[in-house]
Amino acid sequence: MTKAIAILGSTGSIGKQTLEVVDQHYHALRVVALAASSNWKEMLKQIKKYKPSLVALMDPLAAEKLEQALYEQDINVTVAVGLQGLTEVATHEEAHTIVTAVSGAIGLGPTLAAIEKGKNIALANKETLVAAGALVMEKVKEKGVSLLPVDSEHSAIFQCLQQQDCQQARLLLTASGGPFRDKSLEDLQKVTAEDALRHPNWRMGSKITIDSATLMNKGLEVIEARWLFDIDFDRIDVLIHPQSIIHSMVEFADSSVIAQLGHPDMRLPIQYALSYPQRWDSQWPRLDLTELAGLTFHKPDYDRFPALQLALQAGRADGTMPTVMNAANEVAVHAFLDHKIAFMDIPRIVKGTMEKHNWVAKPKLKDIQIADQWAREFAEIQVNPHREVSQ
Ligand code: NDP
Ligand code: MG
Repeated sequence: MTKAIAILGSTGSIGKQTLEVVDQHYHALRVVALAASSNWKEMLKQIKKYKPSLVALMDPLAAEKLEQALYEQDINVTVAVGLQGLTEVATHEEAHTIVTAVSGAIGLGPTLAAIEKGKNIALANKETLVAAGALVMEKVKEKGVSLLPVDSEHSAIFQCLQQQDCQQARLLLTASGGPFRDKSLEDLQKVTAEDALRHPNWRMGSKITIDSATLMNKGLEVIEARWLFDIDFDRIDVLIHPQSIIHSMVEFADSSVIAQLGHPDMRLPIQYALSYPQRWDSQWPRLDLTELAGLTFHKPDYDRFPALQLALQAGRADGTMPTVMNAANEVAVHAFLDHKIAFMDIPRIVKGTMEKHNWVAKPKLKDIQIADQWAREFAEIQVNPHREVSQ
């Protein structure tokens, strides 16, 4: 029997690679719904190829253009719009698993709605767990659904754990170190968005690529791991591993370390999140260990990469602090991509926003939404100090 899937963020890097997994496993997977932000041309191509019954675009103008093109080409598919549209895709009646691959905390509402409807989640959208990990995991338990990691490090840990309890284990989360791994603090002041977008090992969307350059991505991943594996922060270490061959490791109580290795290719963890508990054949590139010059590891440098430290601080503070840290980071990253601020302004803005936040210890969804909105506005003011304050 085929597994029906819906993809939030189908036109992005993870979304397209998910569709490549579908291409290889069309006997096992079937696409019933797709959602994206504004790339209606790519969505049109995907509609023609995968024939979903429902699609959604966040941007109403793009949705109009898509509807026009569908009408002209006599293609029948429902087009939903906005966050409501995304939620309709996430809760599509036929869908068994929702691949959440939008970028940013915008994925939170649709993901919660999907879980509420009993859908299983293949989670790429780490910002959702960072913004509201406690609420999401509570809902997962309550509804008895599975939430499996797509993120390569978490997929690695999931595979290493093999159903063992990780309470006595340590997670060793590896990081490539990004394109600026060896740059001095002085050089980091001058790097541009174009420099940052040249990631050495992975091809990804622009937001996560900048997060990889600041090492914020690893900070988000530590918080993601904390929720996925219900493990204390003190039991998670970050290791810089420039070759990105070991995707992460688990050190067990008896000191045995189990690692998962693979060619740096997201199609493998995407496929595993969809095939689990089975393993399907794949044609993805295989690892040739004899071709590796060596595997190296070292500790991260928090002075040059303060974003990692900030994320860890926010994670430990818990409550609404990770929400605020994540929201400020989203604003700062987009400002950096738009050439409005310098690279080292990203952690500065995140820190400034965290410092001014009125922290809530045990937030409800409403508190999370308020904190997220406040942080976006506060961070925007730091990007454009002359902007009118709306509160
Ligand atoms: P991309 O930027 O390549 O793609 C993002 C996708 O989400 C696009 O389909 C985009 O639509 C859509 N989207 C963006 N904003 C919105 C919005 N406001 N509403 C609705 N749809 C939206 O990102 P990636 O695929 O690289 O990353 C997606 C998620 O996966 C992120 O959370 C990232 O951290 C995580 N991830 C990514 C990895 C990777 O290798 N790429 C690895 C591990 C995790 P449109 O094209 O129309 O703009
Ligand atoms: Mg990752």
